[in-house]
Amino acid sequence: MNEALRHTAQDYTVSLPAAEYIAVYRDARRFGACCRACPNYGRSWACPPFDFDVDDYLAGYRTALIIATKITPASRDLPLSEAERLLQPERQWHERLLLDLEARYGGRAFAYTGTCLYCPKGSCTRPEGLPCRHPERVRPSLEACGFDLCRTTESLMGIPLRWSTDGRLPEYLTLVGGFFHNADAIDLKAVWQALKP
Ligand code: SF4
Repeated sequence: MNEALRHTAQDYTVSLPAAEYIAVYRDARRFGACCRACPNYGRSWACPPFDFDVDDYLAGYRTALIIATKITPASRDLPLSEAERLLQPERQWHERLLLDLEARYGGRAFAYTGTCLYCPKGSCTRPEGLPCRHPERVRPSLEACGFDLCRTTESLMGIPLRWSTDGRLPEYLTLVGGFFHNADAIDLKAVWQALKP
């Protein structure tokens, strides 16, 4: 590992009824406005507006499993511009886990907000009106579907999100993904063990 990017990563999970998560933690109007103000809006297939109806997309699942990873850099003496490089390996791991859960249990995975992992930066096909190169891997984020991730992590997991205030990395970064499903039980430990290198 690049010495400057050394960090620790701690995983957190919580399950709750999907209907409760939607009723209490979703504000589609508020977060839709945030997405529309983002320069990536409509410029990546991972971002809104989506070619599916989000209400329909979320419907029909009993349980919402939220998976967060708290990433604490060994040193805060790094510019915020390094956040993406710090997050990259953990994001790759998160997205493998979420796609593996979909493959094992059915359901829907929700990835972390941010630039898409699967093509070189700036090369998404969407601005040219061409189809996504990897639709089997790209999933929307919870935030892009209207969920409040600050309240999600703080109320459900006891992790307040941290932001940079001085151009340096904050004390920690938090990746948040989700998995909506109808399984009676999810053996996360087995999935983790199967995927860990
Ligand atoms: S996989 Fe490529 S084409 Fe698809 S959303 Fe990501 S960057 Fe765009």
